[in-house]
Amino acid sequence: MRYVLASNNENKLREMRELLSGEGIELVSQRQAGCDFSVEETGSSFEENAYLKAAAVTDATGLPAVADDSGLMVEALDGAPGLYSARYTGNHEDTDAARTAFLLEKLAGEGNRAAKFASSICCTFPNGEVLRAYGECQGSILKAPRGDGGFGYDPVFLPQGMEKSMAELSEDEKNRISHRGRAMRKFIEELRKHNADK
Ligand code: IMP
Repeated sequence: MRYVLASNNENKLREMRELLSGEGIELVSQRQAGCDFSVEETGSSFEENAYLKAAAVTDATGLPAVADDSGLMVEALDGAPGLYSARYTGNHEDTDAARTAFLLEKLAGEGNRAAKFASSICCTFPNGEVLRAYGECQGSILKAPRGDGGFGYDPVFLPQGMEKSMAELSEDEKNRISHRGRAMRKFIEELRKHNADK
C-alpha cells in the first residue's frame, strides 16, 4: 500500500521508510506524490501541525498520509526553539549548521544544558480516520557539534545515558532511541490494530 509522507525532508523520509519497512508500506515523498505545496504550520502544538500537514496531503492525493511534526525543546530557553525548530534563526533558508550555531550562542555560559526532542506523528486516511502517536528523547546540548550523521540539531544533542552525539550514531542506533523512532513504533502498533479491525 502506498502512503505519502507529508514532507519533502529527505532525512525524515529515509528514517521513516526504514521504520515502516516490514509493514508492507511504500512511503513516497509529497513531491513524488505530485503535491507541489508546503502547508503552513499554523497550529499551536506539534500534534496540530502534524494533522494539518497530513490532512492537506490526503485531501490532495486521496491517499493515506503520514506527517511528523517535531522539534527540540531546551529547558534553559523555556522550551525554545520548540515549534520553531526549523526556522529558529528567523530565516527558513538557513542551514542546519547556522541554526545549530545560533542555538549554541544562545546557550553560551549556560550551565543547564537539559533538552529533549519531541515528535508527533499523524496519519490521515481518505475516509476521515486519523491515527496519532507521540515520542520524546531526553538529553542535553553539547558545547560544540560532533559527528556528521542525521540532520538538524543532531550534532549538538547528546542523548541521555550515551557517549555519542545523535549525529555520531548509525541510522539504526538513532532510530532505536530517537523521538521519531519511539513515536513511529507506537504509530505502527496503532496501524496494526487499525488494519486488524478492517
Ligand atoms: P518540521 O519539519 O516542522 O517538523 O521541523 C522539525 C525541525 O526540528 C527540523 O528542521 C530540525 O531542525 C528539528 N528536528 C526534528 N527532528 C530532528 C532530529 O531527529 N534531529 C535533529 N533535529 C531535528
